[in-house]
Amino acid sequence: MVERGESTQGESERTDWDVIVIGGGPAGSTAARYVAEGGRDVLVIDGRESIGSPLQCGELVPTNDEMRRLCPDVPDLDDLLQTPERAISLRMSEMHLVPPSGKPLRYPFEGLMLNRVAHDEWLVELAKSKGAEYLTSARVESVEGERVVLRDGREFSARVIVGAGGHNDPLRRSHWNESSLKIPVKFVLMNGDFGDAVELHFGGMAPGGYAWMFPKSGGANIGVGIQNKFAKGRSLNLFTEDFVGRYSGEITFTGAGSLPMSGTIDSFVKGNHLLVGDAAGMVLPSNGAGITIAMIGGRIAGKAIVAHLDSGASLHEYEAEWKRQMGAVMRNSKRSFRIGSWIMRLPDWVLNLAFNPLTKPFVWRFVTCRKPFFIY
Ligand SMILES: Cc1cc2nc3c(=O)[nH]c(=O)nc-3n(C[C@H](O)[C@H](O)[C@H](O)COP(=O)(O)OP(=O)(O)OC[C@H]3O[C@@H](n4cnc5c(N)ncnc54)[C@H](O)[C@@H]3O)c2cc1C
Repeated sequence: MVERGESTQGESERTDWDVIVIGGGPAGSTAARYVAEGGRDVLVIDGRESIGSPLQCGELVPTNDEMRRLCPDVPDLDDLLQTPERAISLRMSEMHLVPPSGKPLRYPFEGLMLNRVAHDEWLVELAKSKGAEYLTSARVESVEGERVVLRDGREFSARVIVGAGGHNDPLRRSHWNESSLKIPVKFVLMNGDFGDAVELHFGGMAPGGYAWMFPKSGGANIGVGIQNKFAKGRSLNLFTEDFVGRYSGEITFTGAGSLPMSGTIDSFVKGNHLLVGDAAGMVLPSNGAGITIAMIGGRIAGKAIVAHLDSGASLHEYEAEWKRQMGAVMRNSKRSFRIGSWIMRLPDWVLNLAFNPLTKPFVWRFVTCRKPFFIY
């Protein structure tokens, strides 16, 4: 029998659980943490041998104070977002939004550059400390009703099943028709000294998306995301080579991934199945923030599941609570992305004109998911 909080590495004898979570990233581990804290048995199943590795991230999150400003309706952020020092690479105090001219608009911004791998490992530890159990190196093939089938043929069952498998989650793939716009992303880690301002670049160097340079301790995380339909046949590899080539230093790691950028899907709940994090489209499309938002979704889902199992509360309370906490932020972010996608298709010289001291406050409101105009 598997002990509470133990990592089972593929040999769990127990097959029947209150809750199974597919994927132990920020969304899944946070959901599991709150389900376990509520006294329910939960098994997290992840295809990776070591959750968090290999790195697929720009590694930037806002500080908790910045999160309170960005997401004012989310309560108790300090309880949710407990980032240990070992998972922090560098503290940032400024963000530069950079048009093609290279002349940035500068904003105060409190951010944390993470060691993302250590961060995700910590979230696993936290969930285990509350009693969640993990089965790693185990890929979920399919889900039907209360049954979860692994690629190696093993089967598990649970009263509630959570899809937290990221942008390609198996539950989302098989049970939801809605599609999300996915932006392919490539990035590198580079050694060197890159200052202490986060840079987001917009324009022809990343058509329909953006490029970033996020300093870390002793280096930087540098990457590009594009919308292929605006790329005129040019590959993401070439855009990445060009952008990374602007910086000098030794490249120590190259990674790639995909970001769902059309915002949340219509419904996160179908019967006893729930989606959370990237699987539900929770990345904020106007700035690509996904880690903290996945954790907000994970906490709401975890608590709603416990209420459902304890007292029969509807699982749809998860969606209702998400809308109370994040509805306005997500709506504004989706709108900003739609307008931004149109603006970013304009020639670079127009963008250079658009990024000026007069538009500076409006540009910031776009990126930080507020209504672009105070009355709009
Ligand atoms: C290149 C890149 C850069 C990014 N930069 C940032 C950034 O700087 N800041 C930020 O906030 N966000 C960033 N994001 C977004 C952020 O990484 C995601 O929003 C966040 O990881 C979502 O968490 P999640 O738990 O929903 O999914 P994930 O972190 O993707 O976790 C999903 C987990 O599910 C597992 N899994 C998937 N399928 C299966 C299966 N069939 N069976 C079992 N397990 C499965 C995976 O192994 C994985 O561990 C970036 C994303 C990318 C791709």
